[in-house]
Amino acid sequence: MNRFRQSFSRFMYGRYGMDQLSRLLSYVVLALIILTFFLKNSLLYTVALLGLVLIYFRMFSRNISRRSAENEKYMRFHYKCMGRFNKVRARIKDSKTHRIFKCPSCGQKIRVPKGKGRISIKCPKCRIEFIKKT
Ligand SMILES: [Zn+2]
Repeated sequence: MNRFRQSFSRFMYGRYGMDQLSRLLSYVVLALIILTFFLKNSLLYTVALLGLVLIYFRMFSRNISRRSAENEKYMRFHYKCMGRFNKVRARIKDSKTHRIFKCPSCGQKIRVPKGKGRISIKCPKCRIEFIKKT
């Protein structure tokens, strides 16, 4: 076992190895393989195989700068998605305690706490007051 690890690390020397992009790809491939068990779709199977080839190609690649550039691109996309996801999640959480009303005269959005009954809301922008049920 030890000898295998030694020769493996010698083989991996100077090669790129695993990164976040490859990890994501392996989840996708795994999901596709599970799907092919149920769907018996040869296209899905081909895509899964190609994904697997791509993962190994990236892992054993000696072009490290190119591979890390790919991973960096993916990570930037990932953080952008996470930011959007967190924003939506925060909005959903907020909608349980607060409501957003639009000012009838200027269209300004006003956030008020929920469950206060009928209240008079004063627009901070145009100073108009309107009554809403929260
Ligand atoms: Zn207004």
